[in-house]
Amino acid sequence: MAGTLQIMPIGGLGEVGRNMTLVSWGAEHVVVDCGVGFPRGSDRGGGIEQLLPDAEVVDRRPIAAVLLTHGHDDHIAALPHLIRSGAPIGRIVTLPFTAALVRAKIGEIEDLPLPPIVTVQPGQVVTTGAFGVEFVRVAHSIPDAAALILSTPVGRVVFSGDYKLDTTQDNPRRRADRKRLGAVGRDGVLALLGDSTNAPKSGRTGSEESTVQPIADVVADAPGRVILSSFASNVDRVDHAFRAADATRRQVTVLGRSMRRNVEIADRLDEMRLPARPTIPPRGLSGARPRGSLVVCTGSQAEQFSVLARAGRGEHPHLHVSGHDTVVFATRPVPGNEPAVEELQASLRARGARIVTHLDAPIHVSGHARADEVEELIDLLRPRFVIPVHGESDMQEAHARIAVARGGLGRSDVVLARNGDVIELTRDAATIVEHRTVRVIAADGDGRVIDEP
Ligand SMILES: [Zn+2]
Repeated sequence: MAGTLQIMPIGGLGEVGRNMTLVSWGAEHVVVDCGVGFPRGSDRGGGIEQLLPDAEVVDRRPIAAVLLTHGHDDHIAALPHLIRSGAPIGRIVTLPFTAALVRAKIGEIEDLPLPPIVTVQPGQVVTTGAFGVEFVRVAHSIPDAAALILSTPVGRVVFSGDYKLDTTQDNPRRRADRKRLGAVGRDGVLALLGDSTNAPKSGRTGSEESTVQPIADVVADAPGRVILSSFASNVDRVDHAFRAADATRRQVTVLGRSMRRNVEIADRLDEMRLPARPTIPPRGLSGARPRGSLVVCTGSQAEQFSVLARAGRGEHPHLHVSGHDTVVFATRPVPGNEPAVEELQASLRARGARIVTHLDAPIHVSGHARADEVEELIDLLRPRFVIPVHGESDMQEAHARIAVARGGLGRSDVVLARNGDVIELTRDAATIVEHRTVRVIAADGDGRVIDEP
């Protein structure tokens, strides 16, 4: 057996977002996830809307496959940047919903040759060079979220992706497949690269199912029109809004390009049920009876050009907010976004709207595992080594403490790495052997690189 296994996180460590990892066995390479980050605080301004991982560090080496755990932008939206870096990509391998999002979002960019996409089902094993690839379902906040089981010549490496271990959701396709994860653990796992985002928080994260009734109640209690904003990718939360509309005999209007696109994809792939009553087209909104209307739209994070932000500024051609409206923010502000979200809520209140947020009713749950689930994943997989990823350094450290204190790993079996570290894995050692310089690259909303002044 020739070669060594090397894992280099290019983004996603010491930060939230920009998740991208290069895995190499000799001259064979795969990339796991390829996402953007979003600027916060002092990083904002100058037209910077995205932060990209440093694809140049791949150095145009041929990538046999890009493996995508799920379709959130912090896991897929830097693909154009990787393609433009000139590294030849053999194929993209992922589950159907993620594949459809990649085709829709990235396939529409002009002059960007999209590599072939191989769509697989959970449990299906595909081989790419020295690697075997299998996706196992986990619970998250988007359809088809998966952990990746990468079989290598020295053992299995598991990338948790963003996950919860929830098995209580009604829809079996949203439940984590603990049985398969346990079986993988019994077969032996060399290393786990696990999501650290909520590791500092004790207990377990609630199920998406727990938001169904609160959303139904908020919609039922609204005296006039309901405007519900969410992430376009959170198909389940949009589905809850559709069911609440059905229950209160409201007609739905879907506003916003990404929201309309994701609803169309989710319907086509049977990941959601459309409203029972005919929808109202955007131009019909002004004539609709408030008590019989529910609008689903983007903008819960006060994104500048979202439907809700434009409505707050009085600039949306069809959505005119007034005293008839209850505006529901069915997400929690991403850290750093709070001031912008509060400002948007104030502007909507100034137009007479009633505002409902996650502070008023339990209409939001996180998609990330808390400490008890982090421990449980380690118990299921029994990895020889744990490498905390996806998170700020305090989140990685909390994950490391759980692995040692509750997962029974030795301190030296947990690798606290930084972006650019090259981790060499053998059957009995995990060692940082090199550090490469990796940059944070500023880009505009279309992912075009903004050169430093
Ligand atoms: Zn995610």
